[in-house]
Amino acid sequence: MQRSSLPGIEPAPDDVAPGRLWIGGRACEAASGKTFDVDYPATGEVLTRCAEGDQEDVERAVEAARKAFKGWSGAAPAERGRLLKRLASLMEEHAGDLARLTTLEMGKPIREAQNVDLPHSAAVFRYFGEWTDKVYGETCPVDPGFLNYTLREPLGVVAAITAWNFPLVLASWKLAPALAMGNTVILKPPEQAPLASLKLGELATQAGFPAGVLNVVSGYGPTAGAALAAHPQVDKVAFTGEHLTAQKIVQASSGNLKKVSLECGGKSPHIVFPDADMKGALGSVFAGIFSNQGQVCNAGSRLFVPAGEAGEFLDRLKDKTASIRLGDPTDPSTEMGPLVSQDQLKRVLGYLDNGREEGAQALCGGSRSKLSEGGGYYVEPTVFTGVRPSMRIAREEIFGPVLSVLEFDSEDQLIEQANDTIYGLAAGIWTSDLGRAHRLAKALQAGTVWVNCYNVFDL
Ligand code: NAD
Repeated sequence: MQRSSLPGIEPAPDDVAPGRLWIGGRACEAASGKTFDVDYPATGEVLTRCAEGDQEDVERAVEAARKAFKGWSGAAPAERGRLLKRLASLMEEHAGDLARLTTLEMGKPIREAQNVDLPHSAAVFRYFGEWTDKVYGETCPVDPGFLNYTLREPLGVVAAITAWNFPLVLASWKLAPALAMGNTVILKPPEQAPLASLKLGELATQAGFPAGVLNVVSGYGPTAGAALAAHPQVDKVAFTGEHLTAQKIVQASSGNLKKVSLECGGKSPHIVFPDADMKGALGSVFAGIFSNQGQVCNAGSRLFVPAGEAGEFLDRLKDKTASIRLGDPTDPSTEMGPLVSQDQLKRVLGYLDNGREEGAQALCGGSRSKLSEGGGYYVEPTVFTGVRPSMRIAREEIFGPVLSVLEFDSEDQLIEQANDTIYGLAAGIWTSDLGRAHRLAKALQAGTVWVNCYNVFDL
C-alpha cells in the first residue's frame, strides 16, 4: 500500500477484511459477484472492498427474514430481550474493533467513535432488550356483553436504511426496537461506511439470534436501498438520510402502502443571549457545530446573536475554533478528522466558495486544509460572519464544519428568522431568563429544543 505523503497522517492500514453481505446468519458475496471500494478518508486510499448487493441479494435477504419471522415473533419476549442484551455485551467486548472500523471507514476521530458511538449503540440494544416484555395493549370499556382489546404486534419484515455519519448509532436506533418487538430486519448500511454494520450482523448471529432475524445487505442506495423500499414483502422502512432521498422512499413505498419512518436533515438555530452562562454557551456552540466534522443532523449550524452584542463571544469562538487539533483520525489526541468522502469535500468546499461570493466573511477557516495534500478529505473548521438569512449558507444543510452567524434586532425577528427553514429538527437556546427560555421553546418550530445545553440525549 502506498504511504501517505503527509507527516502525521498514517496510511490506510492493509489489515481490514473485505465486507461481505450477512444473509440468513452467514457471510456471502453479492449474487452478481460485484464489489465496491471503501475509501479511507484520511488519505483517499482504498481501505478495502465490499460486496455490492442489489435486487437479487435483497430478494435473498427478504426471503430469509420472512422465513425467520414466525419463530422470532413467536419467541418468548424475555428470550428476545436476553439476546438483545447479549448483543449489547458483545458490542462492548468488540468495542475496540467496531470503533476502529467506524473511524477507518468514515473518518471520525477515534476518541468520538470510542466514547460516543460505541457506548451509545450498545446502550440502545440493552435498553430495548428491557422493553420486550413491557409493552402492553389495552382493554377498552364497551357495551356490556362484548370484550374489546388491543394487542401490540410486530409488523413483519422491516428494512433499515442508514446514513454514514453515525453508522452504528443509526443502525441501533432502528434495529433494537424493531427486533425487540419481534420483527425481522434487513439493514442496508451506507455505501461510504458499511463495514461496522456488517460486523454487527455477524455479532448478532454470535449472540444467538436465529438465522434470518438480522440481515445486512451492503450496496448502493438506488439499487439495494430502492429494492428494499419498493419490495412488496417488506412491511416497513425506517430511514435516516437526506430529505430528497426520503421523498423517493415514500414514493417507492406506495406499492404495498408500507409504513415509513424518516429521520432527515437540519439547519438548526443555536441562540445565545448576553445573559447566558458564556462558558457553557461557548462550549455548546463549538461542539454543536464541530463534533463529527459538523456531519451531524442536529448540528447547530446557524448561530443567532443579538446585533452588536456578541463581539467578545465571537472572538472567543474564533480562538477556540483556531485551536482545534485536526489530524489523523486514528490518533487519540485528534479532535477533528477528515470529511467522509471526496463528494462531501466537494460539497463543503462549494459552500465555502458560495458563502464568500454572497458576501459573508470567514472569521476563521474558510478553505480546504493543508492536510488534504496527502489525498485526504480535510477542510478547515469555519465560522462565517456577516451572514444574511437569504444566503445559501444560512438556508441549506452543509453537513460540514461550517457555522453561519446571523444577528437579530428583536425577539420577534429572531423567531421569524430561526423558523424560516424547510427543516425543523432541533434548536438551542442559551439564556438565564426563564421566561424567555420558555417563550422561545414554544415559538421555535423544532422537534427538540434544548435550553442551556445542546445535543443531550437520554434513551
Ligand atoms: P442519503 O439520503 O444520501 O443516504 C442515506 C441512505 O439512503 C444510504 O444508505 C443510501 O444508500 C440510501 N439511499 C440513497 N438513495 C436511495 C434510494 N433511492 N432508495 C433507497 N435508499 C437510498 O443521506 P447521507 O448523505 O448518507 O446522510 C446525510 C443526511 O442524513 C443528512 O441530511 C443528515 O442530516 C441526515 N441524518 C439525519 C439524522 C436524524 O436522525 N435526523 C441522523 C443522521 C443523518
